[in-house]
Amino acid sequence: MRIGVVGGGQLGRMLAIAGYPLGLEFLFLDRSRSAPAGQVAPLLEADLGDRARLLELASRSDVVTFDWENVPVESLRGLPCPLRPSRLALAATQDRASEKRLFERLGIPTTRWRSVESRRDLTRALQEIGLPAMLKTRRLGYDGKGQAALRTERDADAAWERLGAAPLICEELVPFDSEVSIIGARSVDGATVFYPLCLNTHAGGILRVTRAPDGRARLQRIAERHLARVLAHFRYVGVLTIEYFVSAGRLIANEMAPRVHNSGHWTIEGATTSQFENHVRAVAGLPLGQTRALGHSAMINLIGHMPSRARILALGGVHLHAYGKEPRPGRKLGHCTLVAPTARARDAWVRRLLRQLAPDIRIP
Ligand code: AMP
Repeated sequence: MRIGVVGGGQLGRMLAIAGYPLGLEFLFLDRSRSAPAGQVAPLLEADLGDRARLLELASRSDVVTFDWENVPVESLRGLPCPLRPSRLALAATQDRASEKRLFERLGIPTTRWRSVESRRDLTRALQEIGLPAMLKTRRLGYDGKGQAALRTERDADAAWERLGAAPLICEELVPFDSEVSIIGARSVDGATVFYPLCLNTHAGGILRVTRAPDGRARLQRIAERHLARVLAHFRYVGVLTIEYFVSAGRLIANEMAPRVHNSGHWTIEGATTSQFENHVRAVAGLPLGQTRALGHSAMINLIGHMPSRARILALGGVHLHAYGKEPRPGRKLGHCTLVAPTARARDAWVRRLLRQLAPDIRIP
């Protein structure tokens, strides 16, 4: 069985690495020959919206999935094999406005927001939502790109100048206590599994550290209920992630991703079955694996600069994942993980590691 994957980034690479022990084959489509997945699997080099190459990918695969949610949905119409997750799920998560509407429709609390298509809309949105607020492009935003925090009226002009060419949303800036994410999977026959809640630390809009399990049982129950609703709504197949703000004990959905997620990388060493294996199992029509945490895990992203491999591996118990990417400021180049017997031991270990790897990052 061969899985065709649209997008050959680090997520795709880790999908292939998880699928090989199951005897599965992979074929990637990416615009760059040197994409991370192309170093571990065959790769077709073309634009992700290139219809002819997508048809070739699908005709040589038994199922097609993707590792990036901004693939043009039109180009995925009528492929000669199943697309999992579906185009419907992909389309809904490509646009922040339709994502918010879906959250509201499914009774999942989200930020107060308004659609913004003109400077007048923005003024009105700020009157209704108040300051501080966030202005975000509806499409193609990730890792804090395509967004601006608005703290004063004057910020609105500069933000409009920078982002106003594209359709936007304006939402309240949430004074969150923490950020968490829930990752789960649904199989072809409708079975679902959920991972323990991940506790995420961002800086400059980019995920820096994840710790799991978060351990707050009430939040876990609520997040699982939300994710189950989204999975059922789409009759979804594969892994799906919802990211939340936690404010005054409440979960407020920020966004979702129809794919494996950076906050789930800890599951490779820290859970019975990794998020990557479960995605591969789901799209291949196989039974899902258990999602139990094997201890108290942490994941630290390696961004912009790759520390020496030997230096990381000399820190006994730390696992390294290098994505094979050229260093560039702000670029995710790899991550490392650890599994500790207690949350306290894990956090102490993370603080020590951060002093060496990313001294500007602190965990609460
Ligand atoms: P996003 O691209 O929407 O995931 O945003 C990236 C990060 O920016 C989030 O994880 C938060 O740390 C921060 N952020 C985004 N939107 C908001 C908001 N409405 N209120 C507070 N922080 C936000």
